[in-house]
Amino acid sequence: MIFSKKKITTAYTVEKCTKCGTLTKRKFHDGDVLFTKSTKCNSCDGLTRIEKIFGETIEQ
Ligand SMILES: [Zn+2]
Repeated sequence: MIFSKKKITTAYTVEKCTKCGTLTKRKFHDGDVLFTKSTKCNSCDGLTRIEKIFGETIEQ
């Protein structure tokens, strides 16, 4: 039997609300730039900022 391991790297973006500090993790989208203003916060009416962009590698 032959086992082939496939590595898949998925990029994630972590957004942090500048007002209440809520962290939201979502999949990375093209055009995401670190420390730029992003979307509206779900918990308050503040704006979220991109805090972190990272990749997670999963072996399949
Ligand atoms: Zn907020």
